[in-house]
Amino acid sequence: MSALDTASAFPEVRPGEPLTLGHLVGGAERRTGTPIEVRNPGRHDEIVGIVFEGGAAEVDEAVRDAADVADAWAATSPAERERLLREAADLIDAHADRIAELAARENGSALSIVRAETGACAISFRAIADALAGRLEDEVYDGGERGVYVRVERRPYGVVGCIVPWNAPLILTANKLAPALAAGNAVVLKPSPNAPLGVTILARLVASVLPAGVVAVVNGGADAVSALIDDPRVRKLSFTGGGATARIVLARAAAALKPVHLELGGNDPAIVLADADLAATADGIVASAFRRAGQVCFAVKRVYVPRERQAELAELLSERIDRLRVGDALDPTVTMGPLNNAMQYRRIEELAERTAGAGREVRELGQVASPEAWPQGYFLRPRLVPDAASDDELVVEEQFGPILPVVGYADEAEAVAQANATPYGLASSVWSSDPEAAAHIAGRIEAGVTFINSHLFSPAGSRWIPFGGWKQSGMGWEGSPHGIDEYLQFHSVDAQGLARSRA
Ligand code: NAD
Repeated sequence: MSALDTASAFPEVRPGEPLTLGHLVGGAERRTGTPIEVRNPGRHDEIVGIVFEGGAAEVDEAVRDAADVADAWAATSPAERERLLREAADLIDAHADRIAELAARENGSALSIVRAETGACAISFRAIADALAGRLEDEVYDGGERGVYVRVERRPYGVVGCIVPWNAPLILTANKLAPALAAGNAVVLKPSPNAPLGVTILARLVASVLPAGVVAVVNGGADAVSALIDDPRVRKLSFTGGGATARIVLARAAAALKPVHLELGGNDPAIVLADADLAATADGIVASAFRRAGQVCFAVKRVYVPRERQAELAELLSERIDRLRVGDALDPTVTMGPLNNAMQYRRIEELAERTAGAGREVRELGQVASPEAWPQGYFLRPRLVPDAASDDELVVEEQFGPILPVVGYADEAEAVAQANATPYGLASSVWSSDPEAAAHIAGRIEAGVTFINSHLFSPAGSRWIPFGGWKQSGMGWEGSPHGIDEYLQFHSVDAQGLARSRA
């Protein structure tokens, strides 16, 4: 029996009416807990939808139902799971336009970006389906004597809890759901209250092709997460979010001795080498750094450039940033929407004020698409700080917003040292006309990925890049075929006397 049929997974609402979505527990919708209004960050008076604040009771039920079906789900063949992942991908594609519109309205990112993100979710499901073949096969080691073997099996954990943030919520959810399900786990998903609707719909669509209970959704905040951590039936957690929250999650998981996979913040350096084509470099950096108003974990967060080319690059960056059109996420001419929430808005405004207060030039750039809408939303113009110092707050901390520092360097050794002088190690990039020289620098950078002459976008296909962070940017890996391994554990059988055919 499947959980929801497709029609009920994504209900129609009349224009202007909020979409009300309960938790998804045991394949059924459950509207318990205090309602949470999800407002459009570009229009404070628009309630996009309503979800409910779940806690221990909702988590208990979701986990109970997930645990009930976990063994049967784990026993399905990889080929069957592959088929279902592809079905889920097709369903996501079929609903991509509606999901994108909903997600853009609640998240604030420009519609074109969210539409691309929705397409990437289907790609992620298919990439994991492609990667399944052969990945879960047993390894068999012959002990040399008749009937003596060791068989190393890969088994799912059972029930896993997945916790996602609001900034790119659809793809971050797909990057957990697809590998966790492929590995044979049941999943209880906890979206962020700052963007829960698109994620809940995505999960409901996926759930609608699976047996009831295999995918559950409990909305809410810290209480729901605490309940997931404390529940012994939840065997592993996968968390994406900020370092401060991760410390709370990890401390609680330590008490429960529960394994946790963490995808955290980054402070990604872009190192521009002396021979770089600066116009193309500026195009690439702006496309990355201001995507989603800078609210992307692995976007360019700081730029290093030889001092003698700093002014030239700053001008080229300024020109491009000034072309960004800031306004309503659904306006097709808009390239940068509002910030997602009040805390983000205030944080970036205050950071910009402190940076200017410390004597730095802060260039406020960009075009205002619809000035009358600004008092109604968390709109900020994009900013460039053309001459920052390596120990400025804006350079040292993850800004996670539309303000970008440029730092001059004397030689490449200094640039690499500065790039690595951070507790983070998520992504990075090197920009040069000589890809060999860039690759040489890349080899010295401490991060999960270094892009050459791009940042964020992999022309070769992001599906192959294990995504994760060094140092305080994470523990474990997501995406790519390796992402499946995060949701598997070994079980070995010391098969003395067992017939070879069983091994
Ligand atoms: P956040 O840490 O505030 O929230 C993440 C999740 O944790 C949400 O579901 C939230 O509801 C939950 N949460 C919040 N407070 C909690 C608490 N006290 N106890 C338990 N759970 C709690 O992060 P955010 O603001 O949603 O996202 C922004 C951060 O996430 C940035 O630092 C960004 O770099 C990082 N991020 C990392 C990646 C990655 O893959 N490495 C991707 C996107 C975002």
